[in-house]
Amino acid sequence: MSRHPQGTELAFHNQAGALVTVAKTQTHTGHTAYPWTCHGCGTGDPGYSARIRSKSDAEQHAAECTALQITT
Ligand SMILES: [Zn+2]
Repeated sequence: MSRHPQGTELAFHNQAGALVTVAKTQTHTGHTAYPWTCHGCGTGDPGYSARIRSKSDAEQHAAECTALQITT
């Protein structure tokens, strides 16, 4: 039922059911980055090069965030 943005690697749900996603992107320097975004409150990080770090931060945010999903 949830629509995941393109490039989504991982997706979690926060307390209100909003998606917190970790995407995989390529930076202009050719490195892989894993930006995470909370689709409830809009919080996120433009990208860590370490997948485990983005996963950890996204997971932690999902566990604490209670913002409802932003519908576009
Ligand atoms: Zn949030």
